[in-house]
Amino acid sequence: MKKTKKKIHRKMTNTQKSTSGQMRHSNPKRHGSRKWRRIQRYFGIGLIVLVVLLLILLLIKLFKPEWLPGRHEEQAGEKFEAIEPEIDVELLTVNPYSRPGQPTSKITGIVVHYTANPGASAIDNRNYFEGLKDTHTTQASSNFIIGLEGEIIQCVPTWEVAYASNERNIDTISIECCHPDESGKFNDDTYRSMVQLCAWLCMKFELNEENVIRHHDVTGKICPKYFVENEEAWKKFKKDVGATLADF
Ligand SMILES: [Zn+2]
Repeated sequence: MKKTKKKIHRKMTNTQKSTSGQMRHSNPKRHGSRKWRRIQRYFGIGLIVLVVLLLILLLIKLFKPEWLPGRHEEQAGEKFEAIEPEIDVELLTVNPYSRPGQPTSKITGIVVHYTANPGASAIDNRNYFEGLKDTHTTQASSNFIIGLEGEIIQCVPTWEVAYASNERNIDTISIECCHPDESGKFNDDTYRSMVQLCAWLCMKFELNEENVIRHHDVTGKICPKYFVENEEAWKKFKKDVGATLADF
């Protein structure tokens, strides 16, 4: 009822106004500009809302990337099991010093490290990480460790953050590699498993050899020592990973 009344009233005022010649043309114009102002206002509000949403998204991306969708995807199934290298799964206890239990975001790289602990075995290194839950001396770990006989130990699941690659912990898989002496050069058994594991992980996360990087590429640290001091050896390693991937 109210609406009809209003309409009639508006009509009447329009007619009344139309009796004055000046008002006759200015009135629809004024109505149009009001409409335009309203559109502008809505557009302005929409723009502000959009900017605020984008800002929130940016803050999440910077500080809480694990909240964003598309977090962790890995390929599984018979095809992947058939080419999986032998892995001894010896997961660490969830603790703030070596296995925070934090989910990763989408995996975009594989980071290769050296243990900087000449002659130590994979299990020695794994137990050192496990011991950090009691010693609290530092925060360190890695998803995998490859030993001097080519053995592979998994310490942290691939969908959880390990403390190895600084700001790239969140979106990479880390591999610590044992070495017999101070030079940091890997022996053949370790090297072979490194190539196999990197290629397999590339396959699982739909990456390629260019996504295999050194700790050095993240922070500039001399790690893995031999691959930082011998750029050609590093290039050859990536080539070997690429060739193995092609063979899968
Ligand atoms: Zn490292």
